[in-house]
Amino acid sequence: MSPTPTTHSQAYTYCAFCPKGCRHACPVSEASQVESLSTWGKMTAAHLVEQEQRPLDAETAEAVHACTGCLRCSSFCKHDNQAGPALFAARTQTIAAGLQPKGAASSLATFKEAQNPFGVELAALVQGWRAQSAVKYPLFPGCSTLVKRPGLIEDLLVVASAFGAPMGVARAAQGCCGYPLYAAGAHDAFREHARSMAQTLDQVPELVVLDPGCAYTLMKLYPSFGVTVKTRVRTVVEVLAENLPHAPARPPLPDTVGYHDACHLGRGLGQYDAPRALVKRAVAHLVEAPSNRREAGCSGGGGLLPRTMPEVSVEVARRQAVEAASGTDVAVVTACPTSKRMFERAGRRSFDVIGLLRRWLEAP
Ligand code: SF4
Ligand code: SF4
Repeated sequence: MSPTPTTHSQAYTYCAFCPKGCRHACPVSEASQVESLSTWGKMTAAHLVEQEQRPLDAETAEAVHACTGCLRCSSFCKHDNQAGPALFAARTQTIAAGLQPKGAASSLATFKEAQNPFGVELAALVQGWRAQSAVKYPLFPGCSTLVKRPGLIEDLLVVASAFGAPMGVARAAQGCCGYPLYAAGAHDAFREHARSMAQTLDQVPELVVLDPGCAYTLMKLYPSFGVTVKTRVRTVVEVLAENLPHAPARPPLPDTVGYHDACHLGRGLGQYDAPRALVKRAVAHLVEAPSNRREAGCSGGGGLLPRTMPEVSVEVARRQAVEAASGTDVAVVTACPTSKRMFERAGRRSFDVIGLLRRWLEAP
């Protein structure tokens, strides 16, 4: 009996028979210097397992987890092959086989227990930020910001108010978008979680999302799993850029910064100009990385890589910080809280766009 083709069979096959057209693009193989972790190597492993020509073992399980889901390989692929989603789907079998790498297994266990990746009660955190009265823009900060960077929410509320676009944290923010389930390959659980989240959002006509990973999940991943969100979902940078004409007239800071296009915001949602417009308003000099926009590098924070290959993920961030801001005195600016954290773990000075805007607004 021949193996049953799956949704991603064609993607695996294209890569397995490809002369490694995107060889230079994968941040994981570049940082690890391991050929079997190139896009071609990982997809060939998944192809051979699917074709029953290679057993699913610890080595193949590690290979399919060595992906941040950055989508960068697709930017260099003549077939527009989607290796990231295909590799995440290949993780599903590793759960059933008990072969998930430890970091991925523990992330999944925490999520199943608490319905978020941090194992905390998000409702209590959201309660502390709820607006006292109705606001124009209900905000979904994302659980990573709620738990690890609450100061960023304060920065955003100050900036949004100065831009004439008042925001307040929405009750819906007490739910996680479910991205960790997707990245772990728990795709049935992800679909169920997305359905439940979409039902919660039924009562919310509009939502402004701070974390590009959450925005990508709600706007792109949910529909790709057959879940419709009726809410009008926009990113924070999109809304702030739209309100730039209402921002105070102030001179830019005399700083030079390098901008990092976060993968989910850039390749995921096609938002390249809005964050640049905000950064250019706040500082005098914005340096473009040699590879930017659609071809930009990755900070190593996605796809559970910091949990499964922590050292490689930091090396990915270190390399991208050099790419985005080559001088050590030049700070890396990004619109993604996870990327900022990764750059800091790699020892680089980093700002998020919102923090930079607040510094600009409050400069003497
Ligand atoms: S993503 Fe495209 S270019 Fe890269 S290995 Fe696969 S088929 Fe080749
Ligand atoms: S999505 Fe990114 S990390 Fe994954 S194989 Fe492609 S380039 Fe590598």
